[in-house]
Amino acid sequence: MKQKDIAELLDEPACSHNKKSKSGCAKPKPGTAAGGCAFDGAQIALLPIADVAHIVHGPIACAGSSWDNRGTRSSGPRLYRIGMTTDLTEQDVIMGRSEKRLFHSIKQAVESYSPAAVFVYNTCVPALVGDDVEAVCKEAEQRWGTPVVPVDAAGFYGTKNLGNRIAGEAMVKHVMGRREPDELTPEQLAHGHQVYSINLIGEYNIAGELWHVLPLLDELGIRVLCTLSGDARFHEVQTMHRADVNMMVCSKAMINVARKLEEQYRIPWFEGSFYGVEDMNNALRDIARLIDDPDLTQRTEALITREMARIDKALEPWRVQLRGRKVLLYTGGVKSWSVISALQDLGMTVVATGTKKSTEEDKARIRELMGKDAVMIEDGNPRALINIVREHDVDVLIAGGRNMYTALKARVPFLDINQERDFGYEGYTGMIELARQLCLTINSPVWNDVRRHAPWAAAAKLQEAANG
Ligand code: SF4
Repeated sequence: MKQKDIAELLDEPACSHNKKSKSGCAKPKPGTAAGGCAFDGAQIALLPIADVAHIVHGPIACAGSSWDNRGTRSSGPRLYRIGMTTDLTEQDVIMGRSEKRLFHSIKQAVESYSPAAVFVYNTCVPALVGDDVEAVCKEAEQRWGTPVVPVDAAGFYGTKNLGNRIAGEAMVKHVMGRREPDELTPEQLAHGHQVYSINLIGEYNIAGELWHVLPLLDELGIRVLCTLSGDARFHEVQTMHRADVNMMVCSKAMINVARKLEEQYRIPWFEGSFYGVEDMNNALRDIARLIDDPDLTQRTEALITREMARIDKALEPWRVQLRGRKVLLYTGGVKSWSVISALQDLGMTVVATGTKKSTEEDKARIRELMGKDAVMIEDGNPRALINIVREHDVDVLIAGGRNMYTALKARVPFLDINQERDFGYEGYTGMIELARQLCLTINSPVWNDVRRHAPWAAAAKLQEAANG
């Protein structure tokens, strides 16, 4: 990828960070790739497209250290679960045969699995060697008649976030706009109302949580053309240019896709979240607002009223157990505030929240929700987190999987909120699941056991006392 293309992606005009600074996103510092390189970001952004063969062109370690790190689910094909790599070695580089290996890998993937398409992720070694991945993909596509998409995302180009944008860019450039959506199904036609289409960009269907939301959209006559990329199919990505609205779900990572679809196809977009009752209501209202059909607006309000009544009743027993409990929330970006409102809905008190990856807008919303004295944690090293837990007598730490051992070593109840989790928290139904999981972890009998002194330690203490 050329320097100017990378600079363009870093300087995304729709991103609020960039509106404030002239220089675009910060350039990666040495060592940044350790937290996920550009290749890692590109791969996790696209890996959930379930009927595609995802080939990592590089040494096996690139594929090994990043594959399958998101708990995304598919309702059908499972091809995305198969890790594929060209497994380059020193010999391949010395003998100049890495392009040949790639060509044969594509052939093997096509012949063995008949995928809807093949995605080829470029990594550091072939990028340094100077492989012409785009040309190999083009030739392979002509030879086997299966779309082969190059995703040029070598790790040294930049951070994971940049990788997400590179992935989005590859979809805009090579995939979108290549196909028309399917005809409406008899069920959709029988709906009796105008059917509108939407794309959910940055929705990964973690633990199948999108399936909590889809029935509601169906009920409103809103067809999801494509989710980029949870539970998506290749042909759905090809039709994204025909949506009436784009929703950026909980993440600015692929904001370039929303902006380009707006510029090229005049599709309006908004940022929203499906976490928490309030945000779920807002997301549905925003969809109706942008579509601007009075009938849809009225049906949306009726649905919200019905769901609010249902959820209030379902949450009541959980609220009794959770009311007044204190939470330390350590997560980044949009989740730093969208989860706060979900927890406050449950009657819990959020004593502090992480803001490492949050924008100024995110922080303003946090202050709105938690008051102007809100404790915001910029650097959540384990010691700092544990100190806050002790100082504020926190009942539960809600954070990403990497903080699990910090919590367990400090014997503090823990709930995983990031992408590796096993439970879906989106939508009204997800809110009930969140409350259930919080109760399960806080009330688990294991905490009393692990906080007790060991019997032999107690006996030794008694002995010490007896000896004077
Ligand atoms: S792409 Fe580069 S930085 Fe990323 S895992 Fe491979 S070698 Fe490491």
